Amino acid sequence: MKMKTYQAGPLEANNYLLWDEETKQAVLIDCSDFTQELEEDIKTLGLKLEYILLTHGHFDHVLGVNETAKALGAKVGGHKDDLPLLENINEFSAFVDFPQTTPPKVDFYVKDGDEIEFGKNRIKVFHTAGHTEGGICYLVNGEKLFSGDTLFRGSYGRTDLFGGNFDKIYSSINEVLFKLDDKTEVYPGHGESSTIGFEKKYNEINNR
Ligand SMILES: [Zn+2]
Ligand SMILES: [Zn+2]
Repeated sequence: MKMKTYQAGPLEANNYLLWDEETKQAVLIDCSDFTQELEEDIKTLGLKLEYILLTHGHFDHVLGVNETAKALGAKVGGHKDDLPLLENINEFSAFVDFPQTTPPKVDFYVKDGDEIEFGKNRIKVFHTAGHTEGGICYLVNGEKLFSGDTLFRGSYGRTDLFGGNFDKIYSSINEVLFKLDDKTEVYPGHGESSTIGFEKKYNEINNR
């Protein structure tokens, strides 16, 4: 599997494009803006974007969903508990300088334990509430964890926004994510990548 990271949108969220080199099937994790770079990469590499998978419903991760899904023919998956965030996106994004937008449309729901395949690759879904009610982490091939705003390098997502809950993010991280192998690579919604082993040692959630 190949991967490329894009930083896009008003808060420079990470969007991750994953693809199977053999079948050319691709998946995009979060879509904070519709960028020419992504569209050109898809064309150049001859990829078929099957899914856009949302880690959560915050506007800074989903502002490009509708346009990208339409342009590239992808289906959008997200957790239903974050629908209130998506439906009221213009209310939540009012403090940044970004044009009003149509609420992102979700084509299918993902839930804890689901498995999604593209080519020979397998994505496992973990429902990790706390930053938002419908927060999701995606584990790809048992090796790479796409952690959205749940787990960052050294820190974790804020819990003072709509749907946030510290006790939930605490247990999502300690009872779910920290049970993964130490070697698991972590690719968050903002900032640098990490590993589960590093975070178990240094993440501030357990060093407060
Ligand atoms: Zn967020
Ligand atoms: Zn974010």
